[in-house]
Amino acid sequence: MTDSPLDLNLPMAVPAPGLPARVRIHEVGARDGLQNEKTVVPVEVKAEFIHRLAAAGLGTIEATSFVHPKWVPQLADAEALMPLLADLDVRLPVLVPNERGLDRALALGVREIAVFGSATESFAKANLNRTVDEALAMFAPVVGKAAAANVPVRGYLSMCFGDPWEGPVPIPQVVRVCRALIDLGCDELSLGDTIGVATPGQVGTLLTALGEAGIGADRLAVHFHDTYGQALSNTLAALQHGIRTVDSSAGGLGGCPYAKSATGNLATEDLVWMLHGLGIETGVDLGLLTATSVWMAGRLGRPSPSRTVRALSHEES
Ligand code: MG
Repeated sequence: MTDSPLDLNLPMAVPAPGLPARVRIHEVGARDGLQNEKTVVPVEVKAEFIHRLAAAGLGTIEATSFVHPKWVPQLADAEALMPLLADLDVRLPVLVPNERGLDRALALGVREIAVFGSATESFAKANLNRTVDEALAMFAPVVGKAAAANVPVRGYLSMCFGDPWEGPVPIPQVVRVCRALIDLGCDELSLGDTIGVATPGQVGTLLTALGEAGIGADRLAVHFHDTYGQALSNTLAALQHGIRTVDSSAGGLGGCPYAKSATGNLATEDLVWMLHGLGIETGVDLGLLTATSVWMAGRLGRPSPSRTVRALSHEES
C-alpha cells in the first residue's frame, strides 16, 4: 500500500449538486452507543471518550441519559459524568425520560435535553410501557419546564419507517406524532430508523410528507441504523431533501437490540468519509476520530464494526 499514488486515509473530494456546504453531526456514541453495548464502561473512560470526540471536532455530543439506573445500568453514572465534562466548550445534550430526569439534569447545569418518543404503539408499549399519546402526555411538562429554563429540546422519534411488530409504518402516523412533538415545543426532531430497514425512496417520501405538513427539514435530523447496509444511502437521500443534521455514533457503537445484529448506529467515521468526499464540511478530523474509536474498541474488547475505522486503522487486511 505504501506505493499507492492515492492517499488512502482521506477521501477524494468531488462535490455533487444539490447538497449543503456543511452538515452538523449529532454524535450519539456516548449515549445511544454505550447504552446498547453489553460492556459497562467506567465513568473515567466515558469522560475521556467525550473529551476525545470533542478534540476530534465534534460540536454536538450527546453525553448520557437520566433514565432510572435500573433500566439502563450502562448509563447509571450520569451524575458522576457531567461534572467531568464541565471544561468542554461543545453542546452536550442529555436524554431525559420524565420530569424527575429533567430535574436531575438541570441540577447539574445541563443546557440541552432530548426526550424519546415512538411513532408506533408496539414500540411505545415495549420501550415506555405507555401508549403513544400517554408518552406525549408524559413529555408535555418536561418540554414546558425545559422551555421555561431556556433549555432546547430535541424529540427522538423511534420506528419512523418500519416496526418489528407492526411492519411498515404508515406515513400519516409518523406525521401525526411529529406534529404533536412540535406542538409540545420540541425545537428539533430526530427521525429514527430504529431497526435499519428504511431505503432511500422511503426516506424521501417521509421528508416530503413532513414538509407538506409544515414540518420543514430545518427542524429535522435523521437517525439511521446500518443493520441492512442502508444508512449512508438513506443519509444521502435525506441531504437531497434538505436535511442538515445527521445523527451518528463514533465507531458504530451500539448494536441493534431488536435485530440481534452487531451493526446498529451509522458510524460517524463512515458518515464523515462520505461527507468529506462530497466536499461537505463537518469540522471533524477523521484521523483523530478513528484513533478514538480504535481506543474505545479496546476498552470494549471488540473491534469497531465501522468499515472506515477498519480501513483507516488497518486492523484487517
Ligand atoms: Mg440509534
